[in-house]
Amino acid sequence: MTFANRNEQWKHDKDGLEIIKEIPALADKAFKDIDPGDVERLKWAGIYAQRPRDGHFLVRVKLPSGQLTAEQAEVLANLAAEYGKGEIQITIRQAVQIHNITLRDACDILPRLKAVGLSSVEACGDVPRTILGNPLAGVDAEELLDTRPIVEEVFQFFLGNRAFSNLPRKFKISISANPHDAGFARINDIAFVPAKREGEVGFAAYVGGGLSAEPYLAKRLPFFIRPEEVKAVAIAVATLFRDEGYREKRNHCRLKYLVADLGAEAVAAKVEAQTGALLRGGEEVTAPWNYGRFYGVHAQKQAGLSYVGVHVTNGHIAAEDLKAFAALAKRYGQGRLRTTNSQNLVLLDIPESAVEALLQQEIFKAYPTEPGFFTGYASSCTGNAYCNFAPIETKHRLHALTAALDAAFPEVGQPLRVNLTGCFHACAQPQVADIGLTGGRARVGEETVPVYTVMVGGHLGKDAAFAAPLAGRVADAKLDACVKALVQQYLDLREAGEPFHATVARTGRDAWQSVVDQYAIG
Ligand code: SF4
Repeated sequence: MTFANRNEQWKHDKDGLEIIKEIPALADKAFKDIDPGDVERLKWAGIYAQRPRDGHFLVRVKLPSGQLTAEQAEVLANLAAEYGKGEIQITIRQAVQIHNITLRDACDILPRLKAVGLSSVEACGDVPRTILGNPLAGVDAEELLDTRPIVEEVFQFFLGNRAFSNLPRKFKISISANPHDAGFARINDIAFVPAKREGEVGFAAYVGGGLSAEPYLAKRLPFFIRPEEVKAVAIAVATLFRDEGYREKRNHCRLKYLVADLGAEAVAAKVEAQTGALLRGGEEVTAPWNYGRFYGVHAQKQAGLSYVGVHVTNGHIAAEDLKAFAALAKRYGQGRLRTTNSQNLVLLDIPESAVEALLQQEIFKAYPTEPGFFTGYASSCTGNAYCNFAPIETKHRLHALTAALDAAFPEVGQPLRVNLTGCFHACAQPQVADIGLTGGRARVGEETVPVYTVMVGGHLGKDAAFAAPLAGRVADAKLDACVKALVQQYLDLREAGEPFHATVARTGRDAWQSVVDQYAIG
C-alpha cells in the first residue's frame, strides 16, 4: 500500500497511542537514533519535539474548559520546577505546557500527571485535542447551562479512543454556553454555542473553522442541539472527518477544507445520517465578544462568591507563582482555578468578605487583575524561545510593544488587541486580532532582521470577521512607530464607543494600508 505522505504511512504502520508505552525505551536513545515516525507519534503522548538537536521536548497537558484544581496546579508547578526550568506556558487553548524536558523526564512526568487526574494523551497529533470551553462554566451568572458535564463526557469519550486516533489532522472542539463567545467558536472544527428554541435551552453548532495560512470561519449547521445530543454530534463530525477528510497534502487536510467543499447543508445531512434527525432552528444567544478575558472581581452565580480574573503576560508563569496562586485558591476559595484561552488565570469561589484581603497579596503586582488595555489584551505564540518553526522572538517583543502602547495611549479607554505570531502557522491567532502581526526575517541593508506583516480589524463573536491583510513588511526597528500610527489613526477616526475592528470596517482597508505604507520596507 502506498500513502500520499509520510505522516499517513506512519499512522498506518503503528497507532500513535502505541508510543506511550514505548517512551522508556526511547528515552535510552539519542534523539538522532529515534525513528522519525516515533518522533511524530510522541505527539499522541502530548510530547512535542521542541529542540530536537539538543534533545529537548515539551509536554502539553489538556485542561478541558480550563478546569484546574489547586492540587493539580501544585503538581504542574512542581514538575515545571524539577524539569522545565521553573516555567509554565498557558496556551491559547487553555492547555498548559512545560518546556525543556527530556524523554527521561517524561517517564516521571506522565504518571505524576495521571495521579492527579491530568493527562497529556492526545494533546498533540492528528487526534481530537483538548476541549475548549467557558472558563467560568459552573459559576457563570450568564451561562445558559453548566457545560462541565458535557465537556467531561465528550472529553472522556475521545481520550485515547483508538477509533479516532488516526484522523487526517488535528480536530478541535469547543463547547460553551456563555453568550460572549468564550469558546472562540468560529475558529474551531466543531463548536457548540448557546441557543434557545421555543424556550428550551441547548446549542447551535458551527463546523469547519480554522486559522493557519488559509483561515476559514466555521459555518453554522442548521440544528438546534439538545445538551444530551452534543456528544453524538461531536462524534458524527469526527467520524465524517476521519472517513472523508483529505489525507493527501498535509496543509490541505484540516476539516475546514472538506466543509468548504461540501457546504454546510451536505455536512448536516451526513451528520444526521449518523445521529438520526435533529431539531432545526433555534436562536443563538449572543452578547458582545469578551475576547476570552475575565479580568477583575465579578459575582458568581453562587450568592456571596466572586471570581477573580488575573493577567498572565503572554501566558508565561513561573512555577513558584502558579504554586502561589494554588495556595491562594485554597486559602481564600475552594481550591479551584481556571485557565483561559487568552492565556490567563481565574481564581474561583472567593467570598465577598475575603476579596479585599486576597487582592492585597504581593503577587498581584506582577499578575494584575486590571491590566492595561494593550498589555492585558495581547497574545503571542511561543516564538523562537521554544518553537522550531519560529524565525523570531515573540513574547518579550510583544510585551515591549504593548507596554509602550499603554504608556503612549492612556486615552484609549477600551481593549485594543495586538497579537504577534512567529510564522504563518498563526498560533497566536493574528487573524482575529485588532492588529495582527506575523513575524519573519528579511535582509535590510547589511543585516537580516525580524520583519512583520500586518493585518487589521479581526474579531470573533457575533458577525465574526478575519482581519484584513495589509501589503508590505515592517522592519523591527520601525514596528513600534508603525503600530503607534495605526492606533493614533483609530483614535482620530473612531466614533463614540466604537471598537477598533468596527472603525476598520467602517473606514475600509485602504485607510490602514496607507499607514503601513509609510513604514514598510521596499
Ligand atoms: Fe511556532 Fe509559528 Fe506557531 Fe509561533 S506561530 S509557535 S513560530 S509554529
